[in-house]
Amino acid sequence: MPAKRSRKDACQLPPLGMDETSLCSDTRHYLAHTLGADEENASKNNLYTALSMSLRDRLVERWKNTQKKVIEEKGKRTFYLSLEFLLGRTMGNALLNLGLEEAAEKAVAQEHRHLSDIIEAEPDAGLGNGGLGRLAACFLDSCASLGLPVTGYGIRYSYGMFRQEIRGGEQVEEPDHWLKNGYPWELKRPERVRHVHFFGRSDVYADAHGKLKHRWVDTHDVLAVPYDIPIPGYRNEVVNTLRLWRAASTDIFDLGEFNAGAYPEAVAAKNNAEHISMVLYPNDSSENGKELRLRQQYFLASASLQDVVADWVAIHGEDFRHFAKQHCFQLNDTHPSCAVPELMRLLMDEHGLDWDSAWNITSQTMAYTNHTLLPEALERWPVRLFQQLLPRLLEIIFEINGRFLQEVARKAPGDTALLRRLSIIEEGNEQMVRMAHLAVVGSFSINGVAALHTELLCEELFADFYRLWPRKFNNKTNGVTPRRWLQWANPALRELLTEHIGPEWKNDLDHLKKLAPFAEDPAFRKRWDGVRQINKARLAHLVQEHTGVQFIPGAMVDTQVKRIHEYKRQLLNALHVIHLYDRIKRGESAEVTPRNVLFAGKAAPGYFMAKRIIKLINNIANVVNHDADTAGRLRVCFLPDYRVSLMEKICAATDLSEQISTAGKEASGTGNMKFMMNGALTIGTLDGANIEIREAVGPEHFFLFGLNAHEVSRLRHDYRPDIYLQADHDLQRVMELLYSGFFNAFEPCVFDPIIQTLNNPHDPWMVLADFTSYKLKQQEAAALWRDQAEWQRLSILNTAASGVFSSDRTIQEYNRDIWHLEPLVMAP
Ligand SMILES: *Cc1c(COP(=O)(O)O)cnc(C)c1O
Repeated sequence: MPAKRSRKDACQLPPLGMDETSLCSDTRHYLAHTLGADEENASKNNLYTALSMSLRDRLVERWKNTQKKVIEEKGKRTFYLSLEFLLGRTMGNALLNLGLEEAAEKAVAQEHRHLSDIIEAEPDAGLGNGGLGRLAACFLDSCASLGLPVTGYGIRYSYGMFRQEIRGGEQVEEPDHWLKNGYPWELKRPERVRHVHFFGRSDVYADAHGKLKHRWVDTHDVLAVPYDIPIPGYRNEVVNTLRLWRAASTDIFDLGEFNAGAYPEAVAAKNNAEHISMVLYPNDSSENGKELRLRQQYFLASASLQDVVADWVAIHGEDFRHFAKQHCFQLNDTHPSCAVPELMRLLMDEHGLDWDSAWNITSQTMAYTNHTLLPEALERWPVRLFQQLLPRLLEIIFEINGRFLQEVARKAPGDTALLRRLSIIEEGNEQMVRMAHLAVVGSFSINGVAALHTELLCEELFADFYRLWPRKFNNKTNGVTPRRWLQWANPALRELLTEHIGPEWKNDLDHLKKLAPFAEDPAFRKRWDGVRQINKARLAHLVQEHTGVQFIPGAMVDTQVKRIHEYKRQLLNALHVIHLYDRIKRGESAEVTPRNVLFAGKAAPGYFMAKRIIKLINNIANVVNHDADTAGRLRVCFLPDYRVSLMEKICAATDLSEQISTAGKEASGTGNMKFMMNGALTIGTLDGANIEIREAVGPEHFFLFGLNAHEVSRLRHDYRPDIYLQADHDLQRVMELLYSGFFNAFEPCVFDPIIQTLNNPHDPWMVLADFTSYKLKQQEAAALWRDQAEWQRLSILNTAASGVFSSDRTIQEYNRDIWHLEPLVMAP
């Protein structure tokens, strides 16, 4: 055995300083030597990059220590597989979690800049659509902060979520080239590249012992190149990893196929492979069905599982007996559920396991999180497409299904209807693979994301599976990270909290409870209001700068920001705004509480109705804001390009949080939690986590309206919009304004499709059914606003009760019930 090399050489690296001076000198070094910038007059971008590199060094130090610790401990690990990670900006989070905010502020001041301007130079990493992708990012932050050895796996899209511009009131999509100035937070790991197979066919052969085996041959391979992003825990010296895969061509694939004469064509074909990680699909809560999307899904699943299996084999060889005890794969929705057949394939075809051993391992390591009940979001892929693109995987899926249906048939003999309902393969004109069934059959844990959502999963979508395996099902109510969404987003509140309840809340958000008694203290309420005014001024400034709309000082900030979707019912809010305007025009303005109504959100580019709703909101805003009668009473604004870095400013400045989805449709919601943490009151339906928010803060401190989920499903059969119209004179007037073209004087008929859905008895979102109760509840909110002491009191109570919506609580539950990981403890 060779002697261990001694590293007592002169080049030994001292630990990096965590003070202003060392941060400043490292930043200068990167400016001068790495970026070749003019140090006297560095641009914001250069300073951003140089400071990022200095911070990254400090992360990398801790990163390597964490990795060493993980290997030493030999403990179980979890891998979070997600097609989306909506990270937003990283610099602020790194500063906060490393405790370097003040040092960086001073270091940047030496360059005659403000830290806040440098932070604004970072583009958002928008590798996700909305809630699902942001949840993955919050979870990584919580895992690292709790010291749990969890690695994220995703795709390094060249283009993330599109940039939204508004022209003539309509959404225009622009590509988001977030990598164009380089991304200083990632490290490329070319030595860990993987080969991912596509196309070809499945072949049977006899191995050395005469056993029949399968192999996938004549494949077109794509390279998966990993880029690692450090995920720091909150001041605990832990740094976990998010590994994102970029697709690249194998030269063999492209050049081998063409003869020498077709060289340019061969080089051009390289593009094909690279397309896989080119762009994020911008659909939220609806499936897309494009072949490229399935390629992305398999690419992620295969590269990530190969990565984990290779690490195992490097230590244990082909002995997989303890593999299941040591690994868990958490699937963020069905998007990565190719992982189920892919792990089977790797274990059997590449590592020689038999079916039963491979199945035991697979079905004891996979865990699936469902995110939606909407039928349009349930992924199904044509068998024909699978056959062509992933022939060996399809073969395995059929085998899984055959064995599963046999088991069902034994338990329920003769029930062919049940078999048809449960089958992973949907029969019909075109056979389809039901990805949710694949995920359920292959997983030991299936969870919903809020109490109501999990209940409905068990009663409706997965009722047959629930009867079969009730113990697989569990609830994990979502949460959001209080580092980004409270400490970072709301520094003024952070200081006020610590001054009054001490610093413990920063490590355990339940301590916010200690705030409740202060709600009764008028002096504290005044301080609270002071903090809110700072945040509202910051938002008003931003709104003015980006849209020209001048918020009414001191007015209620009434906010609905989220993806634009009919189920989220931005339309209901828009109708209410028309009603407020109508009341002002009627001369009832004395009773109208002044409001700034803020909307933001992106529509999927192919979602016609969602885009038309954006147009309606913009047209309403245009009329309202230019009518002299609304001065000091009502302002309406659609803020373009909703994204994480905008939400950080919006959530701290919102008084009234609009969570008004049709009951039973929003799985959980997480925007609702960010608002509550920052002291907003909620107006909402009994949907998703709203129910739990209302329970936590107390029903009397929540503006509840509308039908509940059971009433919605019962009403479905004979929904009569005309009845609601007849019963509410205000609603009639709102609809009359729409019919008359009042908001589209020069654009005849543009809102006809909206008018039609509102009046359609088949409107699945039942907007008109909830209008009257929404209007009345809005009047209550307005009345409460006029009693500012009482409003501030409830605002404080909302923050005080929000501790349970920390993603730390969610992750502790995942760990207690599903993962069973030992936390790492790193020496400071
Ligand atoms: C929190 C968040 C969401 C999710 O919002 P919901 O209201 O729960 O739909 C979507 N996008 C961004 C940028 C977010 O920060």
